Amino acid sequence: MLNQLIAKTLPIVPKAIVRQVSNRYIAGETIQEAVTTMRRLNSAGAVGTIDVLGEFVDSRTQAEQETQMSSNVLEAIHTNQIQSGLSVKLTSLGLDIDDEFCYNNVRSLVAKAQGIKRFVRLDMENSPYTTKTINIYRRLHSEGLTNTGVVIQAYMRRSEDDIRGLAKEGASVRLCKGIYIEPETIAFRGREEVQENYKRLLRLLFDQDMYVGIATHDDVLLDFAQEEIAKRGVAKNRYEFQMLLGVREQKRDAIIKDGHKTRIYVPFGHDWYGYSVRRLKENPEVAGHIFKAMFTGGR
Ligand SMILES: Cc1cc2nc3c(=O)[nH]c(=O)nc-3n(C[C@H](O)[C@H](O)[C@H](O)COP(=O)(O)OP(=O)(O)OC[C@H]3O[C@@H](n4cnc5c(N)ncnc54)[C@H](O)[C@@H]3O)c2cc1C
Repeated sequence: MLNQLIAKTLPIVPKAIVRQVSNRYIAGETIQEAVTTMRRLNSAGAVGTIDVLGEFVDSRTQAEQETQMSSNVLEAIHTNQIQSGLSVKLTSLGLDIDDEFCYNNVRSLVAKAQGIKRFVRLDMENSPYTTKTINIYRRLHSEGLTNTGVVIQAYMRRSEDDIRGLAKEGASVRLCKGIYIEPETIAFRGREEVQENYKRLLRLLFDQDMYVGIATHDDVLLDFAQEEIAKRGVAKNRYEFQMLLGVREQKRDAIIKDGHKTRIYVPFGHDWYGYSVRRLKENPEVAGHIFKAMFTGGR
């Protein structure tokens, strides 16, 4: 009860407390900190994807700055020879401003990544952007920029159709539950409904022999995925597990130890607040930590 109450009142928790509690989910504020985190993960047997925190940008200048930051990340990945790709949110590259402007920004990043043999994942945001994001993916692909892929959210009712469409292009898909709040008319809302759809979609992705990033920390789904992989004899180069930095690290290590390729999503940057609040709301234990931090001044 108390935990639920505090989770609901997160918006009024002082930012310094949110920052202190969410430190484990964020590599830091600089590229160098993201590189250091990624080196540590690489040494522990994981690969990664780096994300510059930021979304829903409404000025061209800011979208250009975000594009430049992601471009700098690609350079750092290359220079430091770390095993990592890049993840981007299209609203941080200008999707809310102008489609063509956003396309040119993301295109420049994917082209640069192609030159250094890296992959760019287009994160999936809330439902007003689903079709636009898939269309941008398709346009990049049709221009020969095949080092990019999309994200499918299991809570969206449209996802099965989206996968069937994307199968024709042999798309690389990250499958996650979905993190935004969507209306029931277009999204499954119940925990079990979402789990069931996740399983259905994962089977479909394997049926279609699509490369799949299994992005979840949910034991029910992790067990299901491992059983399907074993039962079907899915080749190691057709899937990977994906987890967020700082979440269920013991489970992550066990998956790596079992010999599955595992990618960790490593966010960094100044715009850490929105991301942190979403993560904290997901973590059932978070409220207790926040409550404690409020009374200890974050020490
Ligand atoms: C690599 C990756 C990329 C993603 N990309 C996207 C995207 O592009 N678009 C999108 O909408 N969503 C994205 N998500 C988020 C995703 O949609 C879910 O919201 C999130 O993963 C939680 O769902 P779950 O499957 O882990 O299951 P849950 O049932 O939420 O979590 C399972 C268990 O994991 C633990 N756990 C989960 N979250 C936390 C946490 N923050 N702290 C501590 N423990 C936790 C808890 O023990 C929980 O019981 C991504 C997730 C991952 C892992």
